Amino acid sequence: MSFKKMNKVIIFSAPSGSGKTTLVKHALETFPELSFSISCTTRQPRGEEKHGVDYHFLTPEDFRAKISNGEFVEYEEVYTDKFYGTLKTEVERIWKQGKTVIFDVDVKGGIALKKYFKNQALSIFIMPPSIEELERRLINRNTDDAETIRVRVAKAEEEIGHQNAFDKTVVNLHLDDAKKEIESLIHHFINEA
Ligand code: 5GP
Repeated sequence: MSFKKMNKVIIFSAPSGSGKTTLVKHALETFPELSFSISCTTRQPRGEEKHGVDYHFLTPEDFRAKISNGEFVEYEEVYTDKFYGTLKTEVERIWKQGKTVIFDVDVKGGIALKKYFKNQALSIFIMPPSIEELERRLINRNTDDAETIRVRVAKAEEEIGHQNAFDKTVVNLHLDDAKKEIESLIHHFINEA
């Protein structure tokens, strides 16, 4: 007899600059049974980012229309006038392929998604080694101006206070150790009933 496996999601949240995106990419490369949930955003594409690959880049009007139509599982104004959200259709698209959804969202979004998906979800908080190190990483990334970095650092300090709302915390002190830790967490989660 065969049992249908439960549809699952894995949520990664972290203050910006914690190395979350690197760890999400690593998870996707390691586990073919995972698929990235492409969020909608009203911010402009950065660098090499592509529409429909990294994000669905929407106008504020289009984003508002989707809010009114109840199309989002969750959405947030992550920065002033910059909206980010996850479409219900995106989750369904991935589950239809028999895969587990992987989310890269901010901390509030991560808590909202865990509340929504409950035991179908594994939520992981990626912790920077320190606020000073996080600031250094944001400066070295060279994608944001000084004011943006100041806002992100202030937000990070607030977000770290919410780590207990997550199932697991992984401290990203040494990237290779953090990679191994998430491999083990994901392996257990996707292989349990
Ligand atoms: P960035 O502008 O650097 O791509 O993303 C800024 C923040 O928004 C990151 O913490 C990212 O994880 C988060 N984010 C991306 N998509 C979503 C989403 O659908 N919902 C929420 N709440 N946050 C998101």
